[in-house]
Amino acid sequence: MTKSTLDRQVEVHLLDHEVRYTQGRRSVVNALARAAGPMSAAELSEVVGESVPLSSLYRTLSVLEEAGVVAHHLGAKGLTRYELAEWLTGHHHHLVCVECGQVADIEIPSSHEEIVRDLVARIASLASFQPSDHALEIEGRCAECA
Ligand SMILES: [Zn+2]
Ligand SMILES: [Zn+2]
Repeated sequence: MTKSTLDRQVEVHLLDHEVRYTQGRRSVVNALARAAGPMSAAELSEVVGESVPLSSLYRTLSVLEEAGVVAHHLGAKGLTRYELAEWLTGHHHHLVCVECGQVADIEIPSSHEEIVRDLVARIASLASFQPSDHALEIEGRCAECA
């Protein structure tokens, strides 16, 4: 998906939710679209720079999250990171490095995804739970920390 298609999708979605797609919100969405994984507010702030001061960055993120454009990811050490919602980026999972704290997106082949979905369904059925979605998080060491 090209960046402009994504930008357009967000624009239409926000319009539906009566949320203005301001320059600041645009910068945040574009920064997240280019990221290799969920980003913390501090990391995002470095990318968007002065266009969105840290004070309004949190507000921007919560407006976008409330509108369903951004989702948050809670790290093992309680660090909140942000990413675009899966309807924009596609279903994926996360690799979490326990050394450096990096969180990277990983898309797995559909044959593997089927196995995961099947396993999730089996686990959930043990508790008579109807799964609607899942998020797989693999902890370990990234290539740089290994
Ligand atoms: Zn690492
Ligand atoms: Zn999956």
